[in-house]
Amino acid sequence: MKLAWHRTDLHLTHTWTIARGSGTNVSHTLVVELTGADGTIGRGEAAPISRYKESLDTVEAFLKKVDPRGLSFNDIAGSMSYLQTITEHDMSAKCALNLALLDGAGKRGGQAIYDMLGLGFREGQHLTSFTIGIDKPEMIRKKVVEAEGFPVLKMKVGIPDDQINVKALREVAPTKPVRVDANEGWKTKEHALEMIEWLAADGHFQYVEQPMPAAAPVKDWVWLKERSPLPIFADESYHTAADVPLIAECFHGVNVKLVKTGGISGGFEALKAARQAGLKTMIGCMIETSILINAAAHLSELCDYMDVDGNILITDDPYLGISARGGMVSFLQATEKHGLRVCPRV
Ligand SMILES: [Mg+2]
Repeated sequence: MKLAWHRTDLHLTHTWTIARGSGTNVSHTLVVELTGADGTIGRGEAAPISRYKESLDTVEAFLKKVDPRGLSFNDIAGSMSYLQTITEHDMSAKCALNLALLDGAGKRGGQAIYDMLGLGFREGQHLTSFTIGIDKPEMIRKKVVEAEGFPVLKMKVGIPDDQINVKALREVAPTKPVRVDANEGWKTKEHALEMIEWLAADGHFQYVEQPMPAAAPVKDWVWLKERSPLPIFADESYHTAADVPLIAECFHGVNVKLVKTGGISGGFEALKAARQAGLKTMIGCMIETSILINAAAHLSELCDYMDVDGNILITDDPYLGISARGGMVSFLQATEKHGLRVCPRV
C-alpha cells in the first residue's frame, strides 16, 4: 500500500463568517490517496477544525507517523485500530484515511459504500439545506435570493446583530423553512432561550444548532432543553457515539460530522447510537470538496436532516460526486459507481 497526500485551495463564492470568526475567501483541505498493490486508488479528505486544535500541519504530522503496512483495504476495522494506537485525537486525519480505505475497499469489491454498510440510498428522499453565513443585511438578502433554488436554508447566527440579520433573510424569504446555527455564540441560558423564543414566534424555524458553548454546565443545558420551544441540536458538544448518554439529557438532536468522528465508520456509529437514544439526527460538513461531501451522503439513510453544502459554497471543487440541485441529494450524476462514488473532475 502506498500513502500520498496533497493540500487543496478551495475558493469560496462569498466571504465565510460564523460566530467564532471570519472572514475568509479561501479554505484549505488535504486529500489523501492510498494505492493498493493492484493499482486500486482510495481517496479521502481531511478538513481540520481549528476549534479542536487541528490544522493542515497537525494532519500532515499525523500522516507522517503512519506506516502504510498497517493499512489494508481488506481490513477496515483493523486499520482503524492501528491508527488509534498512533494518537487518540487527530480525528480529521483519521477521517481522511478511513474514507480512503473504504473507497478502495468498495472499488475492489464492486460496491458503493452505502451498500457495504447495508444502508442503501433512496433517490429523491434526502434534501440538504444551503447555508447563509454571517454577513451585512444587504449581503444576506443577496445570498438568500441566490439560494432561491434551495427549499431549506441554514442560517449562521450567534452575534449581537442576529435579529437584524434574521429580519433581512425574512424580507426575501418570508416563510422558507430555516435552521439556525449559533456555533456556541449565545453565552448564557437566558439569552439563548430569549433568542430561541423570538425565532420560534416566526413559525418557520426548524431547530437550533449549538446555542451555547459546549463548556456550559450540564444543568444549564437541561434547563434550556426543558424550556426551548424549538429542538436544540448538539454540534460542538457531540463528537462520537460515546457522548450519547450525556447528550440525550441535554439536547433533542445531534449534528454528526465525519471530521469529528474519524470518518464514515465512526459517523455510522455516532448516528446509530443517537437514533437508538431517541435523538434526531443530522449530518453536517465543513468547507470541503466532493470527497468529504460524498462520504457524508453515504450515511443519508441514518439522517433526519442533512447539511451537505460545503462543495456548493466553493467555485473550484476538484472532484465530481453527488449533485444537490434544488437541494436534493443525488448520486445519479456520479460516473464512479463504487466506493465513495467520486472521481477527479477532468
Ligand atoms: Mg454547526
